[in-house]
Amino acid sequence: MKDQFLGSDEAVVCLDPQTDATLPSGASRREFLKALGAAGVGAMVLPASGLIAQTAPPANRANPRRIDVHHHMYPPEYVKRRGSVGSGSKWTPAASIDQMDKYGITTAIASITTPGIFFGNLEETRSLARICNDYGAEMVRDHPGRFGLFAVLPLPDPDASLREVEYAYDTLKADGIVLLSSYGGKYPGDPAFTPVFEEMNRRKAVVFLHVTVPPCCTSLVPGGPSSMSEGDFDLTRTIQSFLLNGTFSRFPDIRYIVCHSGGVLPVMAGRIQDRFPKDRADRIPNGIFYELKRLYYEVAHATFPAPLGALTKFVSMSQILFGTDYPPEPIETTTKPLAEFGFSARDLQAIDRGNAERLFPRLKG
Ligand SMILES: [Zn+2]
Repeated sequence: MKDQFLGSDEAVVCLDPQTDATLPSGASRREFLKALGAAGVGAMVLPASGLIAQTAPPANRANPRRIDVHHHMYPPEYVKRRGSVGSGSKWTPAASIDQMDKYGITTAIASITTPGIFFGNLEETRSLARICNDYGAEMVRDHPGRFGLFAVLPLPDPDASLREVEYAYDTLKADGIVLLSSYGGKYPGDPAFTPVFEEMNRRKAVVFLHVTVPPCCTSLVPGGPSSMSEGDFDLTRTIQSFLLNGTFSRFPDIRYIVCHSGGVLPVMAGRIQDRFPKDRADRIPNGIFYELKRLYYEVAHATFPAPLGALTKFVSMSQILFGTDYPPEPIETTTKPLAEFGFSARDLQAIDRGNAERLFPRLKG
């Protein structure tokens, strides 16, 4: 559709972040407003997203056909063995589908949430991994098109995890792997986990990085749950461990999804870059920003103006995915602020579905 204000295809291209993978949405809007000012039309009163919306193809907002990459499952045997799973205790696949239909979600890629499946006994962890992954694969089969699966690994056991990657991909046809931000205080970039990353790289895996609260930090501030902030901080330590150990550059074919709009990562990226030890520069031959801007970021429960503002200034629109963190988080806590942020229809389509289709080609259509 031709833009009625601009009347020029060239200007429309400048506006549209989808045509420039390196230009964040916020930056393009800012540049455009600057250009308008230079052209002497600065007095025009514009809606936050109106102009950009006019350049985008019409999208069916009544049914955005979202792909939710942050959605949790609670297999009955897992719940039985754990005893208590909070908001997940009432979960069923039917409950998920009910919520998905209500919020325009076509497919949810299911995963096990924090605290995961490792509670000190590796044999139990291996058993739980297989139980959860078999359950998830069965759910995918039983509800065609509605679910995908991020398989859980029996970390911190690298050998068993290698076998589980093989089983998840070759037998279960999983869509990817879910990793927690740390395992008993050990971070995923630790050299002990290298064989698992070699295998995930060989398979060009999609790895969903999910927050957890590490044992060090469960009660640092009395009076409230550590989940208020520690999960997002731990996720930043995960990224730090990847950078310091060269995980990103050594295994470049793994596609990572970072949860909750990156937590505090987009805000801290500059400080992390400036404090990275110079004697480890060989671990990040392309630079820290190159690696962080290649990551994908899903927006569950972090679509408030500040986190989305930071994220859209830091990465291209092509890297942002829809997620909900259901059932721990009510889906509306993500969808309502997302709708109010001021994205164009085209940007919303990319977040809701288009970007995820590139990561998961089987969901295309
Ligand atoms: Zn979650």
